[in-house]
Amino acid sequence: MLHLPKRIATIGSHSALQILKGAKDEGFETICICEKKKVKPYRMFPVADEIIEVDSFKDFLKIEKELIKRDAIVIPHGSFVEYLGVEKIKKLKVDHYGTKKILDWESDRGKQQKWLTRSKIKMPQIFKKPEEITKPVIVKFHGARGGRGYFLANSPEEFYKKIAQHPCERDYVIQEYVVGVPIYVHYFYSRLNDELEIMGFDKRYESNADSIGRVAAADQITANIQTSYTIVGNIPLVVRESMLPYFIKIGERVVAESQRMESPGLFGPFCLEGIVTQDLILTVFEISARIVAGTNPYTNGSPYTCLRYNEPMSTGRRIARDIKQAIERNQLEKVLG
Ligand code: ADP
Repeated sequence: MLHLPKRIATIGSHSALQILKGAKDEGFETICICEKKKVKPYRMFPVADEIIEVDSFKDFLKIEKELIKRDAIVIPHGSFVEYLGVEKIKKLKVDHYGTKKILDWESDRGKQQKWLTRSKIKMPQIFKKPEEITKPVIVKFHGARGGRGYFLANSPEEFYKKIAQHPCERDYVIQEYVVGVPIYVHYFYSRLNDELEIMGFDKRYESNADSIGRVAAADQITANIQTSYTIVGNIPLVVRESMLPYFIKIGERVVAESQRMESPGLFGPFCLEGIVTQDLILTVFEISARIVAGTNPYTNGSPYTCLRYNEPMSTGRRIARDIKQAIERNQLEKVLG
């Protein structure tokens, strides 16, 4: 068996269990960086060969030298970006899977909009000022925070009434509320093979949006229930097979546009997050340029990866396979950034 000179490391949160399990399945030794108070799952599920405990993820930079000494490649995920911030990630010296340049495009709303528009992806209308609100909107605060605090409004008056409950929030976006079903499309693009793969789909399980249907409309009004979108978990999903060509096409466009925007472009896992309306078009409200937590139901592979691979292939494992193939072909620089 090939001796793998690298270790795979990530921080203990988000999709770490899946990433580390996938790395072990591919033959890598694994490291999990954990906050002391959150270490238990990473001991309960034995996917980390080594656990490095820190008081806070903010101390990540203090252990960076240790990771370099161990020849680690760090796999970023949603919590990694949230806890470290784009600027610190860009300065990391430890090997990092995926291109850091794309993080700027992902974290800057204007750039993200340009990227998706140029990829001919439909997006929800944005209202620059509250006074422009003429239809139902969803108000979102900046930064991935799992939907927490988001609210709906139907008019400028309602907007001002509700925003008053968030006096410290200055940075928000007012987006058209799109009626349809939320769908998250998980892709993987390998630079080594120049191929796009659909890894799976999920929908989110959000509190209280996913329970409001259990309360009659009349009771919702008397109880003054407000819709909220706090993410609690992810639910696996399979789409109509006839929609697959469409999802493949838009994924390919997003990759091609990223290559025009910023060489070498996006690679590894990414996700288009949006609402499929009744005309079967995906209106995308966000792109994640890395592994998303919606891939977690598929630790043992998805209905789609099962068709392509003769073994359980999670997105975490697919990342490790990409790194392994890069090492075998002496092209490691192609998967680091
Ligand atoms: P975060 O990035 O903070 O996790 P999202 O932007 O993914 O939050 O939105 C959280 C949830 O809000 C989504 O899962 C979806 O249910 C709902 N949502 C977001 N944007 C829209 C929209 N434009 N129209 C309808 N629902 C939306």
